[in-house]
Amino acid sequence: MAQLTDDCFAFGGDLLPVDELERIIVARVTPVAETEIVPLGRARGRVLAQNVIAPISLPPFDNSAVDGFAVRHADLINGADTRLRVAERLMAGAASIHPLAAGEAIRIFTGAPMPDGADTIFMQEDCRIDGEHVVLPPGLKLGANRRLAGEDVKAGAIILPTGRALYASHIALAAAVGLTEVRVRRRLRVALFSTGDEIAEPGTPLPKAATYDANRFLLASLLDQLGAEVTDGGILRDDRALVARALQNAARNHDLVLTSGGVSTGEADYVRETMEKIGKLVFWRVGIKPGRPVAMGVVDGAALVGLPGNPVAAFVTFVRVVRPLLMQLAGAEFTQFVPLPVRSAFAYRKKKGRREYVRVKLTRMSDGMLEARKHPQDGAGVITSLTETDGLIELPENMTTVEPGSTVGFLPYAVLIG
Ligand code: AMP
Ligand code: MG
Repeated sequence: MAQLTDDCFAFGGDLLPVDELERIIVARVTPVAETEIVPLGRARGRVLAQNVIAPISLPPFDNSAVDGFAVRHADLINGADTRLRVAERLMAGAASIHPLAAGEAIRIFTGAPMPDGADTIFMQEDCRIDGEHVVLPPGLKLGANRRLAGEDVKAGAIILPTGRALYASHIALAAAVGLTEVRVRRRLRVALFSTGDEIAEPGTPLPKAATYDANRFLLASLLDQLGAEVTDGGILRDDRALVARALQNAARNHDLVLTSGGVSTGEADYVRETMEKIGKLVFWRVGIKPGRPVAMGVVDGAALVGLPGNPVAAFVTFVRVVRPLLMQLAGAEFTQFVPLPVRSAFAYRKKKGRREYVRVKLTRMSDGMLEARKHPQDGAGVITSLTETDGLIELPENMTTVEPGSTVGFLPYAVLIG
């Protein structure tokens, strides 16, 4: 694992702005080098390691977009019905035998090749059959309902660029040009730990003053969604030597070691201190709320990220810190989130200089606008504030107040974790 060098991030500032953090990640983190070939059926979520070139055009031949009648546009009477003899029947998959002669129509079905000589197709709903003839209304444009060879894809074109994370439509496109496999980068290996003397494993009795581990399940699920291979490191007790040993061992054979809890300045917060001891601490104060502090370090060329312990803070920092890091390590194109404009139903005050995320539920109002209602509980430990909302309002660093009725930027959960 040698994707990062010890000094690749060194950040001297106080609160690291989110944009700066992303810029540093994109500029300095090297994607994993190893690639493999996978069949299309197992390519979902994988990141292309090379451009995909189309071996054929799409459609490969001119064909009909509808069920109807193929004609020569020049045969149509201007401003009146045209009556043509139906000379042939052409199903999808069939090859045309006869070219279309003047004064004739060919019964044709969706996907069937355009007969030689035909240039326009009438939809069957617009036509009237009269024995061996078809009666066509006036007014159809030359070339209507015809799909031209290569109008979708031209043979030789790059249809999917290197770095594209593959989802259903991308896989369909590769199949449509006849491919069966793609070369992708190897999956990322992530070691995942929870920390804290008070954290208990679900399924075991809950000791007094203990809390069941939610974060490992939250983060494992998010990592899985992003295509990473997760090694479950369990729960680490708040023990300096134990934490150091576990993180150092995990760094040897993982691209990223991810922890939650123990990154603040409490007496039992050993994660940050450990990063400084066994590797190099890159930053630990990010201008983000909920979420500060979140620590990032480098140990033996592997990335180490310590997320805050409160589950909502762990979620927000995963999305804004871990996700870009994972995408960069995976060699994926970096895509910025685009907040969607919605109307705020709440008033809010915040400090300048940090980006804040507000959990909201959307309601469609009678004027058609979407209104964002803030969850009544905004504690970073309130997990139901995530499950009972639709997404996050992103409030930029320079903003200090939100008035009800103003436009704010909404990020749906489905986008944040996809
Ligand atoms: P810490 O950052 O370790 O001070 O933890 C902050 C808060 O998050 C404390 O209330 C912890 O009990 C809670 N917490 C830490 N880790 C987890 C976890 N894995 N699951 C649920 N809550 C956690
Ligand atoms: Mg703790």
